[in-house]
Amino acid sequence: MDLYYLIVFFVFGLIFGSFYNVVGYRLPNNMSLINPPSHCPKCDHRLAPLELIPVFSYLFQGGKCKNCKSKIAIFYPIFELFTGIVFALIYKIFGISIDTFIALVFSSMLLIIMISDILYMIIPDELLLFCGIVIFILKLVSGGINIILPTLLDMIIPFITLLIIKLLGDKAFKRESMGGGDIKLMIIFGMVLGWEVSIFTIVLASFIALPITIIINVINKNNDHELPFGPYLSIAALICLLTKVDIMTILHFLGF
Ligand SMILES: [Zn+2]
Repeated sequence: MDLYYLIVFFVFGLIFGSFYNVVGYRLPNNMSLINPPSHCPKCDHRLAPLELIPVFSYLFQGGKCKNCKSKIAIFYPIFELFTGIVFALIYKIFGISIDTFIALVFSSMLLIIMISDILYMIIPDELLLFCGIVIFILKLVSGGINIILPTLLDMIIPFITLLIIKLLGDKAFKRESMGGGDIKLMIIFGMVLGWEVSIFTIVLASFIALPITIIINVINKNNDHELPFGPYLSIAALICLLTKVDIMTILHFLGF
């Protein structure tokens, strides 16, 4: 039975991953999520149901559009596969409970942000608002009215922390060091991960971002190249969510 659910979560992850590709691409452009239906960006060929099967369509078509034979980016099937793995892991870690749904909504939001922030340097407000409200309602359902005050603190503390870091960064670099979306994102991190772990995600994200930023700047030979921080925050939050890391583990890790 365990394996059955694991596969169901994985397959749903593949399907949702395919949809998140569309959301991450269209939402920042204010495009409709359903219209026009999925099509080849090169020749506008509308994809038939058989061409819409996550990962498999890509494999069967040899990574090419059926109509014009132009190459489909390998990013799409990899992202679908990644979403499938994340969903399966969420089942493995949280079983089936309200926490599972919170984890699914939260990780979905993170996955969409990775796409929209890399492509357009935008974290859509609609996405944050929608996921924030859904997660808050789920938390209320599971924890009752008593969780409102501690949850509000969890939301505010990481928000203010990153806001201060941004203001200091703006001063130090004499330009905008971070987007407003990154800071608003901390409100939802706090809601799901708690304020302590959320602040840790900022540290973790910086450690992940540093070597990658150096490599990208060396390749581009351009130190002014602006890079989004949202994808790193998202990866860091995903790691914290899936390892269920808590503040005691972090303190222990830091040698306290
Ligand atoms: Zn085509």
